[in-house]
Amino acid sequence: MKLFPILGGIHPEYRKELTSEKAIVALPLPKTLYLPLQQHMGAPASTTVDVGDLVKKGQVLAKGQGAISAPVHAPTSGRIAAITEMTAPHPSGLPQLTIMLDSDGQDEWGELMPAITDPFAASSQQIKDRVAAAGIVGMGGATFPSAVKLGLGAQHKLEILLLNGAECEPYLTCDDRVMREFAGEVVDGARIMAHALGAPKVIIAVEDNKPQAIAALNSASAGLGNVEIVPVPVQYPMGAERHLTQAVTGRETPARKLTADVGVVVHNVATARAVHQAVRLGRPLLSRIVTVSGGAVTEPKNIEVPLGTKVSELLEFCGGIGKNAKRIISGGPMMGQPLPSLDVAVVKGTSGILALTQAETNESAPSPCIRCGSCVTYCPCGLVPVEMASFIRNDHLDKAAKIGVQDCVSCGSCSYICPSHIPLVHYFNYAKGKIAALDRERRKTEQTKALVEAHNARLERQAQAKREAAAKAKAAKEAAEAALAAEAQSNTAGGASA
Ligand code: SF4
Ligand code: SF4
Repeated sequence: MKLFPILGGIHPEYRKELTSEKAIVALPLPKTLYLPLQQHMGAPASTTVDVGDLVKKGQVLAKGQGAISAPVHAPTSGRIAAITEMTAPHPSGLPQLTIMLDSDGQDEWGELMPAITDPFAASSQQIKDRVAAAGIVGMGGATFPSAVKLGLGAQHKLEILLLNGAECEPYLTCDDRVMREFAGEVVDGARIMAHALGAPKVIIAVEDNKPQAIAALNSASAGLGNVEIVPVPVQYPMGAERHLTQAVTGRETPARKLTADVGVVVHNVATARAVHQAVRLGRPLLSRIVTVSGGAVTEPKNIEVPLGTKVSELLEFCGGIGKNAKRIISGGPMMGQPLPSLDVAVVKGTSGILALTQAETNESAPSPCIRCGSCVTYCPCGLVPVEMASFIRNDHLDKAAKIGVQDCVSCGSCSYICPSHIPLVHYFNYAKGKIAALDRERRKTEQTKALVEAHNARLERQAQAKREAAAKAKAAKEAAEAALAAEAQSNTAGGASA
């Protein structure tokens, strides 16, 4: 298949060899699981259980709220020990409402959802409902509720479901292992999603440093006319939705638009496997594959982890971390988030836990910009990072927005390549957050203003109606009085003539 060049991009040290040959192993069931109500983009789920309740594996503990949300299920059987605030697995370290589930050690399933034995005979709505009920979200880290994304077929003419098996972040190999070990489930889940989307073709794009995954997928899709496995070059950030779409189809997604606007929907390979399990087996999302890696981890591994497992327990299972651990990250080193504590939970979007040494962090004290232009050359979005950072430093967010800071995909290529070690992407993340908050504030003010104006207009209408009614009553009274006076006058005149 002909591929298309993508703009910019870098080749960081990949270090995938630490775990790429480590087959997935299951983590022994932790005694307690900590399940945040918000493991997805959108509104947090709302609890359906109380402290003290006994629950079975797979039971809904919290249901999704509103159009963009996802339920949370019990990864094992046991007793609800508490519903309390805990540190979120996010650099903010803010508390988040979390269900604590004490395992009873039985791992006893509750009632499964009925299997959909022929998903290709099911309606798109049935598949979407099942994916929503199973609590599946984008497992590449985006955590957008997958059922909502499967609804894009209703508003767009879709031609391709593009399955993202690029896994371009250094260190991470969880998707590679999923493709190698569960290729059949990945291909089946992808075909089910394409059916729900109404997309006639499935393309699974895999970076060409994963030959075993490519071979496994080729073998699993042999004879299926609508599935094509496409090796793509190793180039960070190849796994970004827009870039992968550009590389594979040559279609450029306009700024602030979706890939669906150019006929393509992108899902992650692990999401496809979760869809297979939800549809064919009736299983909700209870666990995920996590790569635990980095120079400070005693024994790096790929692990199937029940959701809600504490990061500290996961690291213990890998023999712990050395004193040389400089940074603990959730996700990959380029786009992942530093963890505020090891007492946070593995959630649906946790693709990796990395413990990196000083040498691996690429962190040095920043020095002044030397105007080398490298950040501009390597930005995959065609932006001018040096200029955007300068505007943001001087608090000119409007100017940063004008030159496209909101189109930045936070890939971190500019920070990585900067010889002055300026943490450029931090500026952009800060600016995007601030601009979004200001936008929300502006919308709120506009809504309040519109409500006040509507209220005042209603009061004015009511006052006007009252004035009109009073004027009418007054006119009627005057008319009645005039009639009475006329009648009295005519009676007087009649009496005089008689
Ligand atoms: S972080 Fe943003 S500005 Fe920097 S290279 Fe990536 S897309 Fe460009
Ligand atoms: S890469 Fe760094 S030093 Fe070079 S222009 Fe960009 S900000 Fe300046």
